[in-house]
Amino acid sequence: MKPIEILRKELKIVTDLRGASSLLQWDQETYMPAGAGAIRAEQIALLDTLSHEHLVGDLVSGPLGELVDLDTGEPKWGLSDEESRLVREIWKDYHRAIALPKEFVEEYSQTTSMAQQIWAQARKENNFTKFAPILEKVIKLKFREIDYLGVKTTPYDILLDYFEPGMTSAYVTVLFDAVKERLIPLVQKIAASGVDTGVELLRRDYDVDKQWDFGVKILEDMGYDLNIGRQDKSAHPFTTSFHPTDVRITTRFNKNNLLSALSSTIHEGGHALYEQGMDPEWYGTPFCDAVSYGIHESQSRLWENLVGLSKPFWSYYFPRLQKVFPENLSNISLDDFYRAVNTIEPSLIRVEADEATYNLHIMLRFEVEKLIINDRIPVAELPELWNDKMEEYLGVRPGTDAEGVLQDVHWSFGGFGYFPTYALGNLYNVPIFNQAQNEIEDLDIKIASGNLIELRNWLGEKVHRVGRRRTAAELIVDITGKKLSANPFMDYLEDKYKEVYLL
Ligand code: ZN
Repeated sequence: MKPIEILRKELKIVTDLRGASSLLQWDQETYMPAGAGAIRAEQIALLDTLSHEHLVGDLVSGPLGELVDLDTGEPKWGLSDEESRLVREIWKDYHRAIALPKEFVEEYSQTTSMAQQIWAQARKENNFTKFAPILEKVIKLKFREIDYLGVKTTPYDILLDYFEPGMTSAYVTVLFDAVKERLIPLVQKIAASGVDTGVELLRRDYDVDKQWDFGVKILEDMGYDLNIGRQDKSAHPFTTSFHPTDVRITTRFNKNNLLSALSSTIHEGGHALYEQGMDPEWYGTPFCDAVSYGIHESQSRLWENLVGLSKPFWSYYFPRLQKVFPENLSNISLDDFYRAVNTIEPSLIRVEADEATYNLHIMLRFEVEKLIINDRIPVAELPELWNDKMEEYLGVRPGTDAEGVLQDVHWSFGGFGYFPTYALGNLYNVPIFNQAQNEIEDLDIKIASGNLIELRNWLGEKVHRVGRRRTAAELIVDITGKKLSANPFMDYLEDKYKEVYLL
């Protein structure tokens, strides 16, 4: 066997072990009896250790060392362009993994697993002091991780690079500043307009079984294949994949919020289409892996917002929704419904935010995270800092820490650098969708007749099957011919909400 074939065989073992771990985690969030938590954490930790050890062991470094310089990642002579790209990406994963000592990996896994449990308790009790000591420990571990990996620009950039390879915090700042400059005045104008979008109609009683069936119908129309996927319920909706032929999503329901489950179902459906659309031929390698977290998020948000909150989409689905809930919707017009689902309102909780103010929640977290990682501000200052920034960005001040600094799980698992990718997803998805409009004839008319498959197929070819052959920056240029900018996203928001709010 050639070194590259041996390497792929060994990487498949790493990926199979990770898949088994992910399946245990999926079960933990869906069906596992509550009392099994402790042993489940041990089982997951064992599989994670095994996959890590296999990745950094001789069985991988042997063949990898024949293909690249193990110190620099430089591919050796004689490889094709595609092979060079592949081994360079494999080396990146290997390099990141081997930089961390085994004792560190174990300590990190135990500390973050404990921190997640303490965070959940602290949020429930609205008690930041309870969370602060373990958060400090997690942050100290991040400082150690940064030291192991080696700082090139700023410490925060090393963490950001894990979620968004090639992205820098300097460039994120440029993009976010450009958004901020137009978004804050837009949100202020909307608030001053005094327009009532009639959001109350979404808060009536909506039977959850009927909501479930309606969501599944949309998923099927999007092309989510239930023969190689399934949907279940969980406290926090998520998508998980063990292979392109086993991609699962979860959702949650609120009887008195029609948009909550529908949005999250379509959102996770967008993530799932990406995973189902990857090339199984390359399973176990970076070519069957997402380009970045931001590109993953672009797929979910494209479906959730650009499709799922659009006029063409609801002109097809609203009459069908009226038939399911005649008692609530029979007297409502399509225009009324469209306005209600597109309500913009500053709020305290990120996951419940609308598509415009959502980005302000992310900018706040980006600024706070840089202060924590680059400037090492004391943990005790975080609640006050958070609340001040909420007032500055959104004009609302949390009354409690549960509604403020404690609301998100990310810091407890050490996910510093993750948040920016949520807003980057919004910036990526508009130029991608604009290009789909250019290349798919009459896309709006197709969506308005319930034909979502052509868009899915186009995304499959342009995004899903590419894998890590391209970086996010390269992918955007490949698809749109232009470098990423904040303008398409802000043009979209301004055009849309000028009409909704009669600005
Ligand atoms: Zn998402």
